[in-house]
Amino acid sequence: SKTPVGFIGLGNMGNPMAKNLLNHGYPVVATDVFPESCKEVQELGAQIVDNPAEVADKADRIITMLPSSPNVIDAYTGPNGILKKIKKGSLLIDSSTIDPSVSKEMAAAAEKMGAVFMDAPVSGGAEEEFTAAKELLTCMGANVVYCGQVGTGQAAKICNNMLLAIGMIGTSETMNLGIRLGLDPKLLAKILNMSSGRCWSSDTYNPVPGVMEGVPSGNNYQGGFGTQLMAKDLGLAQNTATNTKTPVPLGSLAHQMYRMMCARGYANKDFSSVFQFLREEEGQ
Ligand code: NAD
Repeated sequence: SKTPVGFIGLGNMGNPMAKNLLNHGYPVVATDVFPESCKEVQELGAQIVDNPAEVADKADRIITMLPSSPNVIDAYTGPNGILKKIKKGSLLIDSSTIDPSVSKEMAAAAEKMGAVFMDAPVSGGAEEEFTAAKELLTCMGANVVYCGQVGTGQAAKICNNMLLAIGMIGTSETMNLGIRLGLDPKLLAKILNMSSGRCWSSDTYNPVPGVMEGVPSGNNYQGGFGTQLMAKDLGLAQNTATNTKTPVPLGSLAHQMYRMMCARGYANKDFSSVFQFLREEEGQ
């Protein structure tokens, strides 16, 4: 039978990921600082424990899916952190999007305890260990790609999200302009999606309420990927761009826009609410 998998952080992403593991027959030992988050997976058979150290006591493969760098540092190195009870040979897979330098720190701290840490927002770790992680990752994600040494998974993730943010803002301002010019939003989306302006934000995650079903824009921007988290990822991209002297003018503007949104009460709405934010700016 399969050995238990530990899971820390049962939010918008962690919940369905942990459910996938349960559905694939893995016993799951999980925790979250917000007890309400644990309810659904507990009902599906996961064992809920008090803190990350207890997870490490019961599982030697542990996945973390936490908001940002400080939460990951806390879950690993805090007073009730994973590293307090970690077993030699454990595999630690961090799927959070965090600063690549924190990933490297956690990898070094884990190595001291005889464990292997890898960043897997997209992937990471050494290739041999990647194979060990792949068994679990394929239960949770459709495309599992090896990127290189620790930190490169985070780098790929941060680059993707910078482009995603730029695309989402571009889609939102384009849709809004079209609406102001008298176009029906559904028709405009249909035209864009058969034309060269098409992108994921226009055809899969359209930000305009009523254009698509089953996306956050159709549900008052609840669930999905929080604006605060997007602001964080854009900040991470800015840090890496500064360190490498790379010009990222649109990424920088996108960062500022998502920060303004956080300050105006959009922090916990899905990041496609930038459409709503642009409409407010017009006084609508
Ligand atoms: P979320 O805020 O919905 O969930 C995070 C969970 O972690 C919450 O339930 C919170 O209570 C818990 N938590 C925080 N600190 C903790 C700690 N120290 N110990 C235990 N639990 C703790 O966030 P999310 O949308 O699931 O995103 C998680 C990570 O994945 C982020 O880094 C995000 O950038 C990234 N990500 C999100 C998406 C998305 O579409 N939502 C997609 C890809 C990557």
